[in-house]
Amino acid sequence: MTAREHDVVVVGGGPAGSVAALYAARAGLDVALVDRAEFPRDKVCGDALSGRAVSILQELGLWQELAAEGAVFHEVVFGAPSGVSARIGLRGREYLDLATGAVPPADVACVRRKRLDHLLFEHARAGSQVSRTGFEIQRLLWDAGSVRGVVGVDASGRERELRAPIVLGADGAYSRVARETGLHDPDPDHVIVALRRYYEGVEDLDTGIELHFVDDVAPGYFWIFPVGGGLANVGIGSLRAVVKRRGLRLPEAMERVVARPPFAARFAGARALEPARGWSLPVGSKRRPCSGAGFMLLGDAAGLIDPFTGEGIGNALFSAKLAVEVAVEALAAGDTGASRLASYERRVWQVLGDELATSERIRHLAAHRTVLKLVIHKAARSAAVQDLIGGMIANSLPRETLTSPLFYLKLLLS
Ligand SMILES: Cc1cc2nc3c(=O)[nH]c(=O)nc-3n(C[C@H](O)[C@H](O)[C@H](O)COP(=O)(O)OP(=O)(O)OC[C@H]3O[C@@H](n4cnc5c(N)ncnc54)[C@H](O)[C@@H]3O)c2cc1C
Repeated sequence: MTAREHDVVVVGGGPAGSVAALYAARAGLDVALVDRAEFPRDKVCGDALSGRAVSILQELGLWQELAAEGAVFHEVVFGAPSGVSARIGLRGREYLDLATGAVPPADVACVRRKRLDHLLFEHARAGSQVSRTGFEIQRLLWDAGSVRGVVGVDASGRERELRAPIVLGADGAYSRVARETGLHDPDPDHVIVALRRYYEGVEDLDTGIELHFVDDVAPGYFWIFPVGGGLANVGIGSLRAVVKRRGLRLPEAMERVVARPPFAARFAGARALEPARGWSLPVGSKRRPCSGAGFMLLGDAAGLIDPFTGEGIGNALFSAKLAVEVAVEALAAGDTGASRLASYERRVWQVLGDELATSERIRHLAAHRTVLKLVIHKAARSAAVQDLIGGMIANSLPRETLTSPLFYLKLLLS
């Protein structure tokens, strides 16, 4: 029997896939949404939501419900390799999202992915004609060079087809859709590897997320993100090429960092709730092709993570919104060919390209110990410098400022 045809098949029910399914359902499309996991499921992540993620979740009317699940934070703490740290207050600021034009409050939240993804998936499932969990996509269906659907195996081991003129590959960093279309690109210069471990009992967890640029993984960082209920999401990560070149072992690096000052006292009575778990972050310091005949890649499958901060959820949601806009236009025109869907890739990079390039330049600068020391030590002492950096986080001041030699000259003279 030939499978029924949908408008779109969404592969992956993480943030990108669920939000794509939601936008598609609201646009009146017939959606099939599948994920190999059963929800609630965990996803290795820092759990912090950027202003961009918040603005899209607000647009979908889901933010209030999701924010209630997490811990709101009002500060970002940046730690220098020396151990000195600067607190950048966000309270009272409005964050301008340059991609969506929205202005959500800069107070943002950490929401554990187990909860966030489950809620998003349940909302998406309600609007989808077909939704399957425990359903692993194994290959794509092709017709005359164009993707026409997917073949997967369900929880009982039975093979099933789902057909649609457009497949949205939202299946994460190791995307099967990207592999099958020849677009998976795990270039170690453009992939971060990171570990996460939940702890309880870490001292001095307050209203800030903490990013500490420890020498052990430079130019990467060690983080402590409060996620509510006295729990901390703790992790460490760096570029895969750096990890390989320096022969770094991330689990050992993390053990070392928590066992020495300034963290040892804070972790002395803490208990790890799980072994450290790792995952990859394909970052957008490289433009990877993300569309072709009958398909588009979203979120981590397209490699859209911020290369400096490691935030990927906001761009995953934004790519989902753009992909659905393009899908609606393509279906209306009756043309889902490669050149029609290439407008998705163009729009993604038109909007996010400059921001990703600036982040990559900042990451390069942060690789220099002296630069980090200069900025963080000055910010630790000067309210004016804190305000400047807060403005850049909120986008009321251009982030390019951080890449300008004039900025460093002023800091030196201040
Ligand atoms: C250690 C770490 C810390 C991070 N910290 C942050 C942070 O604090 N803030 C932030 O914004 N970002 C962070 N990120 C990045 C963020 O986790 C990702 O950018 C985000 O999860 C991307 O969402 P996605 O929907 O594209 O992919 P995913 O969340 O990976 O979802 C992909 C989904 O596809 C499903 N799937 C995969 N293969 C198949 C298949 N063959 N068939 C069916 N289903 C399949 C999976 O089960 C999964 O549910 C971090 C990442 C890591 C690794």
